[in-house]
Amino acid sequence: MADNRSTRLSRIRTLESTARLLEPTGDERNTWNNAACSFAVDSFHSEDYSDEGSDIEPLLEYLDLHLHHPGINAASGGHLGYVPGGGIYGASLGDYLAAVFNRYAGIYFASPGAVKMENSLIRWTGNLIGYTGNFAGNLTSGGSIANLIAIATARSAKQIRGMDYPRQAIYFSEHVHHCVTKDLRILGMDECVLREIPVDHNFHMDPAALERQVSSDIDQGLNPFLVIATAGTTDSGVVDPLEKIADISEKYDLWYHVDGAYGGYFILTQHGRTVLKGIERSDSFVVDPHKSLFLPFGSGMVVVRESRFLKNAHNATANYMQDAEAFDEELSPADASPELTKHFRGLRMWLPLRLHGIKPFRACLNEKLELARYFYDEVKSQGFHTGPEPELTIVLFRKGNDASSNDENRKIARELIRDGQIFISTTSINGIYWLRVAILSFRTHVHHIDIFL
Ligand SMILES: *Cc1c(COP(=O)(O)O)cnc(C)c1O
Repeated sequence: MADNRSTRLSRIRTLESTARLLEPTGDERNTWNNAACSFAVDSFHSEDYSDEGSDIEPLLEYLDLHLHHPGINAASGGHLGYVPGGGIYGASLGDYLAAVFNRYAGIYFASPGAVKMENSLIRWTGNLIGYTGNFAGNLTSGGSIANLIAIATARSAKQIRGMDYPRQAIYFSEHVHHCVTKDLRILGMDECVLREIPVDHNFHMDPAALERQVSSDIDQGLNPFLVIATAGTTDSGVVDPLEKIADISEKYDLWYHVDGAYGGYFILTQHGRTVLKGIERSDSFVVDPHKSLFLPFGSGMVVVRESRFLKNAHNATANYMQDAEAFDEELSPADASPELTKHFRGLRMWLPLRLHGIKPFRACLNEKLELARYFYDEVKSQGFHTGPEPELTIVLFRKGNDASSNDENRKIARELIRDGQIFISTTSINGIYWLRVAILSFRTHVHHIDIFL
């Protein structure tokens, strides 16, 4: 045990030194800032905005006071609540350049370079997951919209019409992210038959229960058409049994969607490839670069195995768009999402991936996996009751093992929030109140975990 602990800590320290490359030094930031600013400024004539304008200093002071200080600091390494993101610095320069140049990234005709860049990021991600052939996707604002696009695509591919909703059955586990049920409601598909499949004692969807439900629904004259697995649940970070759900999807001809908003980019690690095995058999999947790729908020991605289904569900045209239609070598984002005009999101992802290379991202993810194991072992040895062994980087723990200690745990959570050094969130599963640590900020290192312990 002690030996495991010291080899784990030495692995964590080695990973930390590579993961820390994602945090440029002040000098590096200045070099990048100057290079990006002069590139941006050189490209435009300056304009004079003096009428009723302000010096920038008071505006920055205002931001410091009213924006920076109140609320949860999601950029801090001490943020271990919900699903942390972080926001690596290089991404902000990508956003800056995207805003300065303001290329119209919705349509290939308007900015072939921007659309090609976004599609190349989607291809990179699809290949990582194990998709081959003619897949396509969209860079979205986050996982909620990415899941919305996937569900709308499934509906269109399976030719489900509104009048048929009451006979259509959709399956997901009790631990599905609430944005999925919200998306279904937005799409009007809460009128379908929604089946919450029970989970096993470690909170994975029970595939035997799924198959029993599908087959009894068929017997009742329903049409099972969509199953949604979660690759990294928000409550406990466990991955539904992706291979088994793939088998059932194939057997019953279901559209198989995997919500990997939290867990998806762990595919960059050896451990992630094992845990996520089977995701490559899905018809569509979602990942959130603003979670497991450490980008600032505002980056999700949906990928669909067959590009035609994505396009059929989302493309639209108008007489004033006729010039653009002749240029369709690449799928345009506007034909793959509800958006027409959109932020050029690709640049905030492309720039840091190219600046750092993939290595520190992989190290950072491995470091977080190791930190979760480390925290799990340590908190257990302090006498806390724990949830499932971490499959990714979320750990549930509490004092006592039944609902009679809920109040004591609530009190611990309140004290932690009051203390403010480390932020964690909580959850309730079947009436049991859990303290919950989610390790995913790129700035979280072993010293934060030690402070917390
Ligand atoms: C975070 C999350 C979502 C929602 O994504 P947003 O980017 O917050 O819109 C959906 N599913 C899972 C599993 C998540 O972790």
